[in-house]
Amino acid sequence: MDEHGPLGQQQTSSLEQFQQILDAAERIAHLGHWCLDLETQQIEWSPQIFSIFRREPGLGEPTFSEHEHYLYPEDWSRLQHAVTDCATYGKSYELTLHIHRDDGTDGHAQVYGTALTKPDGSISKLVGFVQDVTQKLTLEAALCKREADYRLLVERQNDLIVKVDAEGHFLFVSPGYCRTFGKRQEELIGQRFLPLVHPDDRASTEAAMAALYQPPYRCYLEQRAMTSQGWRWFGWSDSAVLDGKGQVIGIIGSGRDIHVRKLAELELLRTQRMLELALESGNIATYTIDFTTGDVCVDERYMAQLGYESRELAVTYDWWKTQVHPQDLAAFGEQSQQVLHGELDDFQAEYRFRHHDGHWIWLQDHARVYDRDPQGMALAASGLRIDVTQRKEAELKLAYHAEHDPLTDLLNRRGMWRAIKRIHAQSLRARRPYCVAIFDLDWFKTINDQYGHLVGDGLLREVARLFRDNTRESDWIARWGGEEFLVLMPDTDLEPAVGFVERLRHRIEVTDFCIEQQSVRITTSAGIARCHFDAESHDKHSQDKPAQDKNTQDEIVNRADRALYAAKHAGRNRVCTDSGGLCTDSDGD
Ligand code: GH3
Ligand code: MG
Ligand code: MG
Repeated sequence: MDEHGPLGQQQTSSLEQFQQILDAAERIAHLGHWCLDLETQQIEWSPQIFSIFRREPGLGEPTFSEHEHYLYPEDWSRLQHAVTDCATYGKSYELTLHIHRDDGTDGHAQVYGTALTKPDGSISKLVGFVQDVTQKLTLEAALCKREADYRLLVERQNDLIVKVDAEGHFLFVSPGYCRTFGKRQEELIGQRFLPLVHPDDRASTEAAMAALYQPPYRCYLEQRAMTSQGWRWFGWSDSAVLDGKGQVIGIIGSGRDIHVRKLAELELLRTQRMLELALESGNIATYTIDFTTGDVCVDERYMAQLGYESRELAVTYDWWKTQVHPQDLAAFGEQSQQVLHGELDDFQAEYRFRHHDGHWIWLQDHARVYDRDPQGMALAASGLRIDVTQRKEAELKLAYHAEHDPLTDLLNRRGMWRAIKRIHAQSLRARRPYCVAIFDLDWFKTINDQYGHLVGDGLLREVARLFRDNTRESDWIARWGGEEFLVLMPDTDLEPAVGFVERLRHRIEVTDFCIEQQSVRITTSAGIARCHFDAESHDKHSQDKPAQDKNTQDEIVNRADRALYAAKHAGRNRVCTDSGGLCTDSDGD
């Protein structure tokens, strides 16, 4: 005993230690062990089984038949059968049972049983485990429900969802994908399938997918694929599935049919490009005005037209007004008011605008108001501007040449008629007189004959210069015919006109014109007609006719012509008036 005492004590303590470890392990695993001695029908439970069934340890273990108390009827009979089979044939069993605990709660337990045999092969004991799996089953049920929810979500949506392994075998494929490509799920799972991608999209697809093999292991690509309805556009968001070592072991792809949106986008792009081309080839600048802030958003062409760098200046509505030529601003002022106040939507004008260098350029401007407040006031407008300086200058040049004489640069007959009509109307309104004088150079043929046509032309130019230098700012001068000149004197009565024309005649007479190194002298005759709207003061010739008849612009010119004829007839180098009176006589000078 003494010898064995310490050893016996040591054995006891390691057995206790083993018991403690087993207890702890069982507690952690919610698992207990049991033993049924077939000979004594004695059952032993480990403490954890008491805990699983919430049975007071003081009550001791139940008998086998008392186990019925802890089980639902159908599970009790399953257990009875399993235990009988195990005891009779040594058949191990594993059952999940619905349990009813002593504290009134329900749960689930996994029960394992196996037979222990004696050396002669007969079965002496059954041993096994009981594990509380209530929490595990609850979790599993929740997981199942969640999976069912996800499945419903995936199956109901039209998005295309696929998961493939590293070799491209399908691990998952959504019903939307199957519908799109006319395949069944069973056909695809475990297989490789690549829909036909449009040849034009293959290179971009490959380039995009290369991103899946490096951080952040994601890509987005748009491609056309051959579906059961023909070519359609899809947008794919793919992401790689990585293993613990960062190796790509699969790809998850989520695709969406973007066909309609993509076609609209492509059409928009096409129209945008066309618009850009049109704006560029027409050198058309664009702008948008926000009338609430006064800010004008302009493009690069707008700035380039004006000679500014693209961001050199912030354009505002107020600045724009300061840069328009004042005469033009006044001319379209009413139109812009109508556009601002809602009477007009479109503003169209051609105006001069100050270039960065200071000179004027001509702009053709067309803006439209797109947004108004409830009172109709303009909130925003968009517009186009074209630099039409070249065209405008050509037009102005054409208009100038249409009314000017190329040799002398004076007004021609057409230009003078326009001036006469204007002055006539003004004088009629103001009831003020005006005079017309026609000059005809004397014996001009002989100048041509003597010096040649070149000198004749030069003399005409010099006489024109003399007229220009010796007339008032308000007078109009024209080359009326070959060597005839007409001077229109607004707001001038006959007497001062006669004095003025006489001075001109005299100046011509005394001038030594130097042409082509030749000194040339010439004289001129002139006829003057006066137009007056005062009935009392009209001339003697018109006494038998109403004054207004005598005072048409044609008649005034005719009268000046007749007076000229009279001057010629009277010996030339003199001035006559339409009243018939000889005003000057060079012979008498
Ligand atoms: P007068 O008027 O005194 O009766 O004599 P004139 O010699 O001036 O005669 P008239 O007015 O009838 O003729 C005008 C001449 O002026 C005819 C033509 O030879 C000449 N002439 C007209 N236009 C031009 C021109 O552009 N250049 C030149 N060199 N001569 C012109
Ligand atoms: Mg003549
Ligand atoms: Mg003449």
